Amino acid sequence: MAEVLVLGAGMVGVTTGLALQARGHQVTILDRGAPGRETSYGNAGLIQTEAVEPYAMPLAPAALMQIAMGRGYDVKWNIPGLMSQMGAVWKYAINSLPASHKRASVTWGKMIRQSTDLHGPLIKAAGADNIIRRDGYIELHRTPAKLEKARKNAERFLTEFGVQARMMNGAELRAMEPSIKADILGATHWSDSWNCSDPGALVASYAALFQKQGGQIVNGDAGDLHRKGSAWVADEVTGEHAVVALGPWSPMLTARFGLKVPMVYKRGYHRHYHMDMPLHHPIADFGNSVVLSPMRRGLRIATAAELTLHPRMTPPQLRHGEQAARELFDLGAPVEAEPWTGRRPCMPDMLPLVGRVPDQPNLWAHFGHGHQGFTLGPVTAEILAEEMDGGAGWDALQPSRLMR
Ligand SMILES: Cc1cc2nc3c(=O)[nH]c(=O)nc-3n(C[C@H](O)[C@H](O)[C@H](O)COP(=O)(O)OP(=O)(O)OC[C@H]3O[C@@H](n4cnc5c(N)ncnc54)[C@H](O)[C@@H]3O)c2cc1C
Repeated sequence: MAEVLVLGAGMVGVTTGLALQARGHQVTILDRGAPGRETSYGNAGLIQTEAVEPYAMPLAPAALMQIAMGRGYDVKWNIPGLMSQMGAVWKYAINSLPASHKRASVTWGKMIRQSTDLHGPLIKAAGADNIIRRDGYIELHRTPAKLEKARKNAERFLTEFGVQARMMNGAELRAMEPSIKADILGATHWSDSWNCSDPGALVASYAALFQKQGGQIVNGDAGDLHRKGSAWVADEVTGEHAVVALGPWSPMLTARFGLKVPMVYKRGYHRHYHMDMPLHHPIADFGNSVVLSPMRRGLRIATAAELTLHPRMTPPQLRHGEQAARELFDLGAPVEAEPWTGRRPCMPDMLPLVGRVPDQPNLWAHFGHGHQGFTLGPVTAEILAEEMDGGAGWDALQPSRLMR
């Protein structure tokens, strides 16, 4: 049994704590705030088994031109935001070429397909069933070409990964979601994915389970992590091992220990809206670059990516998403005065860092889950815990790949 200090209480840190605890280790989690109040709070709440390929950068000339001209809503950027991470964005683009993307998808697909199997027992033990729906989500298609492409994609995902999906026409879609008033050509129902109506509360309930089972959660700043004898210490809390699970804040810390991480920070926004006739499933409206998730607080409109240092008060992606949602259903007033914002911690090769920090005894990295950290937390936590117990780890996820 080892004493482990986990830095960060997002989905990734808390599930790390649970996985290590299940193997008999004594774990303390340190966070400057309450569990699950940052990126793991603000996401679209999808626990995805269908996202078998990581998000590649769109490289088709028309898509690149649209991004460069600031048109469209998938990726927005400004000069300081882009310049501050130019090297990482460039590597992301190179790794989005078909051969590299296919390589990353092999590892990614293996992880994603385990997500509901590993969340399931935690949800049960944490008593969080009331905020989980197990009946998938819906992706809209507005043109025959997009519908046909989606059909082929669904067939390929079924053959290659066993992903379940049902293609629907407009009438079938409206029967499933009567609040849709617009005429939509068709949709994919990704039926074996799950979703959560309060992502922050799910992390909090996992954290409560961790504490009930004897784990400690301490309020403090991880920023001064240092060695003292053979121990790691942060804000006076010690452990024989330390795991960095600080999501988008991780690279700042690991740089002090020789691990320079070229992260792409994809900012997203969300805001809730009142809805008299709530949706039964989340709806991905990629044509308008938003995911619309029925949450406890109302309909959460979550936006795609913005490369910017500072958040905007009235983000154009959210404004556009709200307008698109108003065309789809009768949407009420916003719940909050201002939108929430946070950054997806994305690695240029699209795979998280899970494993030993090179040349640092008992220091471990566990971050960089990009678009799917809420989904993948328990999966990569298991991979890390196994490696910490003497297993080989997953080669494709090792932090040492950044130094090759
Ligand atoms: C708009 C949007 C939509 C998304 N939708 C989905 C989705 O539907 N499904 C999905 O799977 N993923 C989704 N994601 C991605 C997902 O939310 C992230 O990958 C995931 O939450 C990352 O979790 P984490 O634990 O690594 O980071 P975080 O949740 O950010 O946790 C990091 C923790 O570190 C703490 N911390 C930071 N610095 C310090 C310090 N110095 N000292 C102490 N503590 C510190 C923070 O307080 C925080 O609690 C979405 C992301 C966004 C932005």
